Amino acid sequence: MKTAAAAPEEHRFILSSLPPGPAQRRLALVVALILLVTFLITAGGPFSKVQLPQIGAFIPAYGTAMLVNDLITAVLLFAQFSMLRSYALLAISIGYLSTALVAIPWMLTFPGVFAPAGLLGANPQSTAWLYILWHTGFPVCVIAYALLKEADPARREWRGSVQAAILSSAAVTAGVVAAETFLVTASEPVLPPLMLDDKIRLSPAWFYAAGAVALLILLALVVLWRRRRSVLDLWLTLVLCAQLVEVNLISFPLATRYSVGWYTGRVCGLLSGSLVLFVLLYETTFLYGQLLRALLAQRREREARLMTGDALSASIAHEVRQPLAAMITNADAGLRWLNRASPDLEEAKAAFRRIATDGHRAGAVIENIRAFFRKDAGSRTSLDINEPVREVLALKRADLLAHRVSVEAELNDQLPPVKADHLQLQQVLLNLITNAIESMAAKDGERMLCIRSRVHDSSAVMVSVEDTGTGIETADIDQIFNPLFTTKSDGMGMGLSICRSIIEAHDGRFWATPNMSQGFAFNFVLPADNRIPSAPLSRQKRVAPANTYEY
Ligand code: ADP
Repeated sequence: MKTAAAAPEEHRFILSSLPPGPAQRRLALVVALILLVTFLITAGGPFSKVQLPQIGAFIPAYGTAMLVNDLITAVLLFAQFSMLRSYALLAISIGYLSTALVAIPWMLTFPGVFAPAGLLGANPQSTAWLYILWHTGFPVCVIAYALLKEADPARREWRGSVQAAILSSAAVTAGVVAAETFLVTASEPVLPPLMLDDKIRLSPAWFYAAGAVALLILLALVVLWRRRRSVLDLWLTLVLCAQLVEVNLISFPLATRYSVGWYTGRVCGLLSGSLVLFVLLYETTFLYGQLLRALLAQRREREARLMTGDALSASIAHEVRQPLAAMITNADAGLRWLNRASPDLEEAKAAFRRIATDGHRAGAVIENIRAFFRKDAGSRTSLDINEPVREVLALKRADLLAHRVSVEAELNDQLPPVKADHLQLQQVLLNLITNAIESMAAKDGERMLCIRSRVHDSSAVMVSVEDTGTGIETADIDQIFNPLFTTKSDGMGMGLSICRSIIEAHDGRFWATPNMSQGFAFNFVLPADNRIPSAPLSRQKRVAPANTYEY
């Protein structure tokens, strides 16, 4: 199959320009096989001639279904024409409109349905001739469609008003169908009879007419097959196959009306009338879903970008507040040493050195935040996760003691290494432990901080930080990771969102779970650094819970 010619961006989302995917082709093959099997079973077997009861409601139900299906398909194809302005689409829309309209006189003239000899005149041959005209018009339109879509690009598109094109096409089609109806229902028959007098058996003339129709459908199939490119082409090919099977089943096994072959042929006819409609509806809904997802993704991306801006400024404020405060204190101290009656230059110099150190620290913090937002992976090393855990516990020791928090550290010392930024992991743990202390400080009762590290799913490392603090209101749980969300009067609401971003930037997962009894737990998982061989998991042992402050 040739590839689609270069088309404007939006045309690639339209069924008549979209190339079929492998799933579509597979489905089309399945439908083709079902048609073939149905044909072989029905046409080959003697039971195709078995006469079934004449179901009165069958013809009106079948005709109405064809009318509605083809009319909706025509409307959808006209809608595609209004976007692409292609003559080819106009031709196929006309094809569907004509088959929809011709179903009306076909039903009305069918003997024994609305009147014993059919409505619209007394010509008993009308129905059969309308059937032949019905199945002639469609392949002609398909041939026009296939040829027009390959036409010279300058002459492929309608340049005038779309409404005028659609209205005039609909009017001409309706006029042609009306003329055909008049021709075949004229009281004085002008066309040779296709049915025998019993209005059930086919006359010899039928076989010539139906044979010509079958050849025309075959020709349309060949013309379209050689030019097939789009989803629409693929399914139109199948529609023609279904029509070929239908005409054959109705005609060639010398079937009579209401025989097994006749009923099966009608079902194939219904299938041919519904195929493109189903595909159009499915594709339109699918494309609509894709569009919706793309729109939502675009909106999320915009929000995330805005959020990143907010988060970046809030993080900088969060992190540099402390060194700035220290710089101001040292600057005041330095000035006081200089303003003395006998200035103490050594003390002043020491204060200025501290200011310089704090300045460097603030610079490093800002650089670290920027690197984190750039998702910089440059400073990652292979490390044992227990190291930053122990370091942060040591850093917070005074705080933990001041708030009478007991610590239970259950650290597995046989963990595989993880590839991570040491400083950023410290930042995560520092945030989690600080939050846990603050939560427990706000509550009386037992204050227990439990930190665990363990192997997770045999290829990752998991750390959990549990506390016995206030816990989190159910309504707030969904929000705690949002930047700037805080329930604290002096909080900035950046800690957890930074923690999660750091863990996710390390290809890990970060989540919170309410503690069974009280408090809250935060957990994160980081993938093990596979390049470093670790001790076999079977040999790893769990370390017994360490008691308070064993870090
Ligand atoms: P901040 O600490 O500045 O408020 P965070 O992003 O670190 O910002 O936390 C957001 C919110 O999540 C906190 O205001 C608090 O309501 C809740 N929270 C975080 N950790 C805990 C915890 N261990 N126990 C109870 N609530 C917590």
